[in-house]
Amino acid sequence: MDFNLSDTQQMYLETVSKFVENEITPHVMSLEKGHHFPWEIIKKAWEVGILNLCIPESIKGYEVDIVSSALIIRELSYGDTGISTSAMCNDLANAVIVQHANDEQKEDFLRRFVQEPVLASFCLTEPGAGSDNMGMTTFIKKQADGTYLLNGTKCFITNASYAAQFTVFCKVGSPTGNFMACVIIPSSHFDGVKFGLSVTESNEISVRNGGRIIIGKPEDKLGQRLSNTASVTFEDVVIESNQIIGNRRLGFKYLIDVLDYARPMVAAIGVGLARRALDVTISYTKERKQFGKRICDLPVARDMLVQMWKRIELAELALLKAVVEIRDNSPNRGIYASLAKNVAAETALFCANEGLHLHGGYGFMSEYEISKLARDAYIIDIYEGVREVQNMIIGREIVQ
Ligand SMILES: Cc1cc2nc3c(=O)[nH]c(=O)nc-3n(C[C@H](O)[C@H](O)[C@H](O)COP(=O)(O)OP(=O)(O)OC[C@H]3O[C@@H](n4cnc5c(N)ncnc54)[C@H](O)[C@@H]3O)c2cc1C
Repeated sequence: MDFNLSDTQQMYLETVSKFVENEITPHVMSLEKGHHFPWEIIKKAWEVGILNLCIPESIKGYEVDIVSSALIIRELSYGDTGISTSAMCNDLANAVIVQHANDEQKEDFLRRFVQEPVLASFCLTEPGAGSDNMGMTTFIKKQADGTYLLNGTKCFITNASYAAQFTVFCKVGSPTGNFMACVIIPSSHFDGVKFGLSVTESNEISVRNGGRIIIGKPEDKLGQRLSNTASVTFEDVVIESNQIIGNRRLGFKYLIDVLDYARPMVAAIGVGLARRALDVTISYTKERKQFGKRICDLPVARDMLVQMWKRIELAELALLKAVVEIRDNSPNRGIYASLAKNVAAETALFCANEGLHLHGGYGFMSEYEISKLARDAYIIDIYEGVREVQNMIIGREIVQ
């Protein structure tokens, strides 16, 4: 495994790092406080090519390798993990199209993302089916004319209020069907790009072929407030056969393929946040003096900074191992994706919590970024599979 970055990878890193420094860091605290959806930042990120990393060369004109994708998401997350979650969600939603759709579907469902700065949603979780996603009840049922009707409710869906396209995992035939399908629903979307508006209420979207989609009021979250999260209800949404990806009975297999790709991206989010927590903590503890010394020079505090750094380096190694396994299409990609996600989530929580502690009472004040990082870190250990689910996957692989 070669740890040297290619010139292209180095160029991506520098571009995103500059983007974060100029476009995110100066505004992030006030945007977050005001709960403003960061449309302007998303639009600029699209313009510099930070969005839609998984879209293939046949559609986009160039391809971003998976190591670069992870580095880009890590750097963006150093700026803000709400923004990177929103950005990365396009890949989460579109990966199944890249991996399993036919050429016509790729053209129909991916082209739009390279033409304009639009967002996608990945609809898996339901009120009664979180970690146990086979318990979902959203389903498609075939009609006499050969089309399908989609009905059901998803919750906690990233980008939902702004999405121009929904990737939906659902049962086939009935809510208790044995098979899972994956369908794609393009929609007329709320044009926040043009008007720079934030959605604050629930809204309804008409669907081209019939039926409606109801988006719930945006959730008021503990952290990652710069990402949008809402419920999505599908009512008699007409699905034509070309909106079904691959084989309509193999949705669960496709879901695993998507998560193998996406979990290292969540790990990249965790590493980015952890690194930010360490940097703001080092800079604070270099300024603040107690007992006649800078806090960073007090041995126990210094030891904590060292522990934070060591964990970040190890999480980064786990991340790189996972993306290389995926790049090489290794049969071990799932276990390393779970390892990276677990290790990075623990690291993000550790660095944000201990960083806050090293800020003393100031860390508890909302004007200090470490307090935001601590709030943001919690979800990294939850979305795309809670810690226990990752351990279940690892356990299943090592004890066969
Ligand atoms: C901000 C945010 C954004 C999200 N974005 C999306 C999105 O875009 N698309 C989407 O589909 N979903 C999304 N989610 C949903 C997220 O993936 C789920 O919340 C997550 O998978 C956990 O499901 P749950 O909340 O139902 O928790 P549950 O499954 O109810 O789990 C609760 C707790 O029970 C315990 N537990 C669960 N299973 C086990 C087990 N097997 N063994 C031991 N203990 C266990 C764990 O401690 C776990 O934390 C998002 C959630 C949030 C909060």
